[in-house]
Amino acid sequence: MLFRLFFTLTSWIIATGFLLAQAPILVSDVAAFDAAVAAAQPGTTIVLANGVWTDAELLFEGQGTAEAPITLTVEEKGKVSLEGQSYLRLAGNYLHVEGLVFRNGYTPTNEVISFRKNKSEFAYNSRLTECVIDNYSNPERHEQDSWVALYGRNNRVDHCHLEGKGNRGVTLIVRLNSDESLQNNHIIEHNYFGPRQNLGSNGGETLRIGTSHHSLKNSNTIVRNNLFDRCDGEHEIISNKSCQNIYRDNVFNECIGTLTMRHGNETLVEGNVFLGNRKPNTGGIRVINGFQTVQNNYGYGLTGYRFRGALVVMNGVPNSPLNRYFQVESAIIENNVFVDSDHVQLCAGSDAERSATPINSTFNNNTFYQSTRRKLFTIYDDISGINFAKNRSNQPVNAQVADGFKIQPMTLTQQANGLLMPQVKGKTIAPKLPKELPSKENTGTNWYSKADKRIPFNSGKIHLVRAGTNTLYDAISESKPGDILELTESAAYELTKLPLIKHPLSIRAAQGVSPKIYWEKKAAFDIVNGGELSLQGLTFLGDYAPDGSGNSVIRTSKYSMNKNYSLRIEDCHFDNLDINHSFDVIRVYKNTFADEIYIANSSFNQVTGHVLALDKETDDVGIYNVEFLTLHNNRFSNIEGAVLVLHRGGKDESTFGPFLDMNHCTLTNVGFGKRNKYDAAIKLYGAQDIAIQNSVFQQTKKISMHLVVGEPIVKVDQLQMEASIPLEVTGDQKYSIGKIYRSSTTENLPLGNDNQTLGIQF
Ligand code: CA
Repeated sequence: MLFRLFFTLTSWIIATGFLLAQAPILVSDVAAFDAAVAAAQPGTTIVLANGVWTDAELLFEGQGTAEAPITLTVEEKGKVSLEGQSYLRLAGNYLHVEGLVFRNGYTPTNEVISFRKNKSEFAYNSRLTECVIDNYSNPERHEQDSWVALYGRNNRVDHCHLEGKGNRGVTLIVRLNSDESLQNNHIIEHNYFGPRQNLGSNGGETLRIGTSHHSLKNSNTIVRNNLFDRCDGEHEIISNKSCQNIYRDNVFNECIGTLTMRHGNETLVEGNVFLGNRKPNTGGIRVINGFQTVQNNYGYGLTGYRFRGALVVMNGVPNSPLNRYFQVESAIIENNVFVDSDHVQLCAGSDAERSATPINSTFNNNTFYQSTRRKLFTIYDDISGINFAKNRSNQPVNAQVADGFKIQPMTLTQQANGLLMPQVKGKTIAPKLPKELPSKENTGTNWYSKADKRIPFNSGKIHLVRAGTNTLYDAISESKPGDILELTESAAYELTKLPLIKHPLSIRAAQGVSPKIYWEKKAAFDIVNGGELSLQGLTFLGDYAPDGSGNSVIRTSKYSMNKNYSLRIEDCHFDNLDINHSFDVIRVYKNTFADEIYIANSSFNQVTGHVLALDKETDDVGIYNVEFLTLHNNRFSNIEGAVLVLHRGGKDESTFGPFLDMNHCTLTNVGFGKRNKYDAAIKLYGAQDIAIQNSVFQQTKKISMHLVVGEPIVKVDQLQMEASIPLEVTGDQKYSIGKIYRSSTTENLPLGNDNQTLGIQF
């Protein structure tokens, strides 16, 4: 009897559960979580207990209702983290997920948080809010996964914080590959998309909606009031690949790339703010396909060129296949304001294949303010299909668009929201923007820090290091991120062990001393994942390196690095790197990527390998080893290999680099070793921005450039080369070469040579 009463009561509670206040169910392990999910009814709240959940494979499925969703939350926000190989799937209806943090690990699946159980069971009417995914990156840089994947319909992702994706794959993706996921009405709002490093490859998008295959279907996703903060993964910050999506009232802070309407039609892009703040390669909006509307957007200090311009209208491919470029048709571009933004690109990408110019489009009532005159418009093809009217600029514009512009004096005025807007005769010209701009304060969560995680050089403590055996090794082992090791003696610093550089670290000579570094292992330093290195005032002598081939001074990890690194070398000298053959100065490995390698005022002499062989990404899929390579005021002599090999293979257009800036360098007797397979002193393959200027080449092998992608910018100018040294340019890209002074001797050459003093520009 008692049992029967209990059963009846229980049934009644279950049947009317949402009418009662159900007690939250606190769970402490996955088994308890699974049991709670299995028993969940509308109104059930499942609470993950405080602590670290390791390798938690969570499947949250159930049928909530609009009035009584089923909730998954945490005991205390910020005190629950999912680590190791944890991931979450949602399936069902009216599910609410709140407060989860994924970090210290990566998903073993393709998606950290997936709005589906499997290929046919999806989540609908569900919400992901105040969840964090922080550097939950696969250690294999080019192993692909996504962090949040939306399937189903009517789902919402809001106030989430997604930061630090280091491996390949879109951060947040909306998938359309089933009928149940079309016309989805998803809303993505108030999220913080934190810094994402340059992937150096395609596959670094922060947000993608659709794929080329489903790009002519309607997604109807709204993306609004989000902050995209330094999302630098690749040139598509956002890759729109479906129809009828809306991007409204978002802020893009110092992002390298553009909001790209890559595929699909009828996109609305309005009320967005793009702040470049003069950071290199920052972009705005790129228009492709039909019936796109771009209105009331604002750009400031956008410096990007070509596909990452402030505003880019592409050429299309006639009868384009789905995965190429549809013609721009009936685009409306109006009421946008750009301040000190450098490039508007029209008919961008025009070539033999992309020959369909924009048609039936309007470009009206846009305003451009430039404090210094730059060539704002680059027009690659016929723009007669774009009607220009009532636009304004304070600087002259190209003749082809001048009829649609009024040129008039402007001033700038700062608005209450901090943005600088143009004024004409006292009247402010401002696009319609949200009342409150997305910021760190009003996006993401208010309980998870948005402070910068990358630690700059020289931000830590100074440690003085005496000369001796392994004094430097010990100091490196004990150092903290950002520290400075200052070598205080003009004497030998010997390394019998190989130090691992695990965090940003500076090693420099104290004022007025000349420390000498010797090492007995195959390298002096290994930069491993997370490591960055700055060297100043040091002399590296290879005399004690082991008698085997393939030594080096500085190496990257042999294994995949999912964190980019920086290497800076100033006022350093490298000599006697001639123990056995193929002794390199800097040796990098596949699946490593330097944001910058900067070498200045340094000398390199007697090297049996290469100085810089940045040629380890050989798959020819657009991947490479360094973004910005700077060589200023360096002297290279008696190098058996090349001074530089830089390789970026393939025709992918998703990246901008590598950038080479070589200036005021001298090369003498370079490249003649019989193991120099490149037969060149400098060999560039697929570099997209090349400057070799004010430099001297004597007794060297050739300079070789293969220009294959990206309309490369080539500035080869003011070189002094012996007559016998070839400058070889191949590939299918346009270029021009500046002044090269040729002579059979080094006398009477305009740049001087022997009297060049390191550190002094000539
Ligand atoms: Ca891409």
